Amino acid sequence: MKLSTKFLLFVIPAISLSLFLLGLVAYTQLKETTEEKLLARMANQVSEASTLLQSKTTQAIKDGALIANLQLLKKYMVMADEDQRLLLLYPAMIRSLGAIQNILPEYFEIRIILPDGYEEVRSVTESIPNETEQEYETELFRRMRDSDKTSVQVLTNPDTGGYTLYAARPIKLRDPYLDTINATPTLRGYLVISVSLHDLQKLIVETLSVDRGFVAAYLPNGHRVFASSPAAIPSLPARYLEGDTTIFRDNHYVYYKSTGDQLLHFVSIIHTSEITSATNQLARKIALITGMTLLGITILLYMLMRLMVINPIEMLIEMSKKVSTGNLEVRNPHHKEDEFGNLGDSFERMAENLKKNSEQIKIMAFRDSLTGTPNRAMFSSYIKRVTARAERNNEQYALLFIDVDNFKTINDTKGHEVGDILLRDISARLESQIRNSDFLTEDITGSNLIQDSANLLARLGGDEFTVLLPDLKDPLIAGKIAQRMIDVISRAFVINGEKLYVGASIGITVYPIDSKDDGELLRFADIAMYHAKQNGKNNYQFYQESFNEKIQKTLGIETRLREATANNSLYLEYQPQVELKTGKVVGVEALLRWNDRVLGKMGPAEFIPIAENCGEIIALGDWVINEACRQQAEWIKAGITGITMSVNVSSIQFERQDVSQIVESALQYYQVPPEMFEVEITESTTMNDPVTAIVKLNKVRDIGISIALDDFGMGFSSLSHLLQFPINVLKIDRQFVLDILTKKNSLALVQTIIAMAHNLDMMVIAEGVEEWDQVDLLASLECDVIQGYVFSRPLGKDKIPDFIVQQNSLSLSLQKTVKL
Ligand code: C2E
Ligand code: CA
Ligand code: CA
Repeated sequence: MKLSTKFLLFVIPAISLSLFLLGLVAYTQLKETTEEKLLARMANQVSEASTLLQSKTTQAIKDGALIANLQLLKKYMVMADEDQRLLLLYPAMIRSLGAIQNILPEYFEIRIILPDGYEEVRSVTESIPNETEQEYETELFRRMRDSDKTSVQVLTNPDTGGYTLYAARPIKLRDPYLDTINATPTLRGYLVISVSLHDLQKLIVETLSVDRGFVAAYLPNGHRVFASSPAAIPSLPARYLEGDTTIFRDNHYVYYKSTGDQLLHFVSIIHTSEITSATNQLARKIALITGMTLLGITILLYMLMRLMVINPIEMLIEMSKKVSTGNLEVRNPHHKEDEFGNLGDSFERMAENLKKNSEQIKIMAFRDSLTGTPNRAMFSSYIKRVTARAERNNEQYALLFIDVDNFKTINDTKGHEVGDILLRDISARLESQIRNSDFLTEDITGSNLIQDSANLLARLGGDEFTVLLPDLKDPLIAGKIAQRMIDVISRAFVINGEKLYVGASIGITVYPIDSKDDGELLRFADIAMYHAKQNGKNNYQFYQESFNEKIQKTLGIETRLREATANNSLYLEYQPQVELKTGKVVGVEALLRWNDRVLGKMGPAEFIPIAENCGEIIALGDWVINEACRQQAEWIKAGITGITMSVNVSSIQFERQDVSQIVESALQYYQVPPEMFEVEITESTTMNDPVTAIVKLNKVRDIGISIALDDFGMGFSSLSHLLQFPINVLKIDRQFVLDILTKKNSLALVQTIIAMAHNLDMMVIAEGVEEWDQVDLLASLECDVIQGYVFSRPLGKDKIPDFIVQQNSLSLSLQKTVKL
């Protein structure tokens, strides 16, 4: 539910309730006052009428007294003789009364009625017919006869038919001539003034008429005298008019009655529905006002809430939406010193922090944490852009795949900390060679800020680096840069005060010459790098298509090799070694042969390096050691003794395994005496980690077998280096033997090697001897043993016994030949 809806749901009922209560109180209050007002008005009406009647009555009584006091009237009343009266005084009497009526016309009839009820004098203002002359029986007369004083009453006037106020004064007089001074005055008659109630009627009908209800005058018996409207109730129950209660109600009406003992009761009557309608009207007004107020307040509050709450919240929502969709460039739009302002500021700071963090994450995602150079992810995205650009602009670019030579050895022997420092230094040296003035100064994230024409160095992992050289005018430049990199890497690194040497093997591919696909270019560069490694390391190679074929082939060989030990496609051939002094066979070198079902026969020069590369050499080496032992045991059993079995052990196996242990258990298993066994190692075994190598070789020597250094003269290790190793036999490489007859240097070298070896109590074997001239020359140099085609090619195990017998029988003649 939206906030505004919630607001309306909660606030409106709250306001409504309070306004309703307020309205209710106001209503009841106002209803009361309205009623009071209405009643007050009714009271006013009745009191006005009542006052008028009162004053008329009082006036009539007063005037009655005045008239009664007239000398003429007194004279008239005292005059006993009727004829005399009528003759003498009547006209004057009528005149006087007429004169009074002229001044007070509302006394429309002034009469003198004799005690017997006879109406003797009657003065009227206009010609009103006289219906009754004898009043004795009338209501009026009955009442005035019963009263001593002036009586007032309202009665129907028989002459006019209307109601009239009668003021009747008994006139009691002494006859001044006949009565004594203290004689009681006798009743002579009544002075009756008929007062017109016309003005009262007029007041009620005209002035007191009300819009709602009526005012009416009632006789004490309840008969209506006159009313403001003919609709007024014609007669009221007399009990209503008795007593002092002024207000009474019945089912239909509310009555307000004038108070006091009166001739006439004035009553203001209002239909109850009129009061209800008045209060209803009031209720409607209040409801309207309440409603309008509610509406007004709601609108006002809503607007205020929009302005002060909803709008800021919406702004903040907008802000947070932006942040959630990754737009971190948000500004707080609500700059107020309130909670929303603070929240907005917090949002802003949050976005800033997020931005910083995400930049940091980007850096982490695109940078190698160790060296700080771009990583594989950044390289991958960058090469795509460079490729796109090259395609667009018809440019070339080069990809260098760099693998540090010997890094693994240093890492294993010197520890990872040194390895890490070395990698950082290497990275820095490589970086210095690609001169990236235009690169990465502003870009730290690998985002689009990198110009796609800049050179890029990236670390793919381990000791592998790549370099991208976009917009390359000439591929040869890539070769030059690669060489510069090899040169800087080959210089000594000094870490913890120790000098360390590594090299770099670099493979280079060029877009679009080698491929147009960046993934393929990287793979080819890797292959070219591998080729550089094969080529003796510390060099660079441009990719050639043949590399790829070679790689494919290598991969095929690797797969087949893995099954070789299991599927019996391996066997050994043995090349005899002949001692020059005796001409006898003193040993055989076991040489591995492989006849694969799929690939056919393959020489060890081809498959051994591959096996070394993929690690399969260890299984092969184990197999060779065991098979050679088994064969040696078989021959010993057959009586062929005095022959040393020599086995080639790869430096890889030497580094990774305890060769002494393997050999020892094989010798034990086949019951071969150790002195009948020899291992051949190459200089590379001694080079990578000399300290460990010495320990390992000593263990091998401790078994009691001899150690031969194979291919001697090919490596670059110094003699003093070699002196540290427990070596029994030096095998002079075929290369030197080949040149021994033609090149003086070779001859000198071989001569020196033999002399030196003998000095060190080592035996010397010359390898690859193919000619007798070479045999003679080597014999003159006192070489100990000859191994070569001149005596025999490597032979199958079955041919060895025959060969030995044959050779040993020839040995005598040979000895002669050599000695000659
Ligand atoms: P290597 O240890 O120097 O072995 C001698 C190689 O020279 C053998 O080649 C042999 O046939 C060849 N050879 C001997 N006399 C002559 C000669 O007069 N003229 C010429 N041209 N060649 C001669 P092969 O059998 O092809 O072996 C090649 C290399 O393979 C070996 O060189 C050795 O390094 C490696 N290898 C052979 N068998 C094994 C093995 O069981 N283990 C290991 N780790 N390496 C082996
Ligand atoms: Ca060998
Ligand atoms: Ca050799």
